[in-house]
Amino acid sequence: MTIYNFGSINLDHLYQLDHFVRPGETMASDSYQCLLGGKGANQSVALAQAGGGVKHVGAIHSVDTMILTQLEELKVDVSLIETLDTPTGHAIIQLTKAAENSIILYPGANHCLSKVRVDEILSAAQQGDWVLLQNETNLVDYIIESAHSKGLKVAFNPAPMDAELTKAVLPFVHLLIVNEVEAMDLVGVDTIDAAAQLLPERYPELAVLMTLGQDGVRYFDGEENLHVPAFRVDAVDTTAAGDTFIGYTLSAILSGTPIAEAMRRGCAASAICVTRLGAMAAIPSQHEVEQFLLEN
Ligand code: ADP
Repeated sequence: MTIYNFGSINLDHLYQLDHFVRPGETMASDSYQCLLGGKGANQSVALAQAGGGVKHVGAIHSVDTMILTQLEELKVDVSLIETLDTPTGHAIIQLTKAAENSIILYPGANHCLSKVRVDEILSAAQQGDWVLLQNETNLVDYIIESAHSKGLKVAFNPAPMDAELTKAVLPFVHLLIVNEVEAMDLVGVDTIDAAAQLLPERYPELAVLMTLGQDGVRYFDGEENLHVPAFRVDAVDTTAAGDTFIGYTLSAILSGTPIAEAMRRGCAASAICVTRLGAMAAIPSQHEVEQFLLEN
């Protein structure tokens, strides 16, 4: 069984500065890091580490092939990542000493998917395969509708949230994965409890995983209504917690693990992730997750 992850790949250029660059100012930074990320790539890495057969579908610039090497080392199948003459998606991130950030995001190659390519990839998919998407690539609605019409199961993590787009594609989605803020934005309420009540009322057919940070995760699908608590850990950086949760939980669901146990695995993997700095580098290996589950 394969998961086709139509996802973003970003290079994050991080500069540490005393303060944000002001209009007309040129400022030198004495700290620079370039990190591979993007919600799509992070989720592919988490799926691959969890043992799921994931094919990442996306695009980068042809000069950035070290990205392919890096993803392959992390067990991601990169055969469906195109190399183009368009800049790789990237973010220019200013980080101040007060821990504030200011970000320029350039989607670049992440917005270069064509309908012809989507059709080609989906026509090679087999019954039982899944399609996973976030909201950082183009043609999200087209991909979801096409995948559904071919009988494939669709998991959608609508981040960053676009409520109109998400509502329009929900009839074609099998599993929706949202964090608490996205859930509230989607149903237009300002409390988590209201979102948790309204989501299953409005979409009784839909399976929903709603992550709640240190409060764990909820699941509802019209029949079951579950809450799995988060593991207690000393969190230092919650970047990529959601991506790690999605990869590990989805991989477990696909291999037939009952939903509550799949959620527990996702919580364990993301609990390890939040104890580490960084995004992709913080995603644990399957062995680390097994060990954590034995100890907790
Ligand atoms: P996102 O990163 O998309 O905002 P969340 O913050 O809801 O997602 O986190 C996803 C999952 O990561 C949670 O369901 C939980 O299992 C785990 N997690 C997040 N923050 C913590 C924390 N402080 N302690 C333990 N687990 C956490």
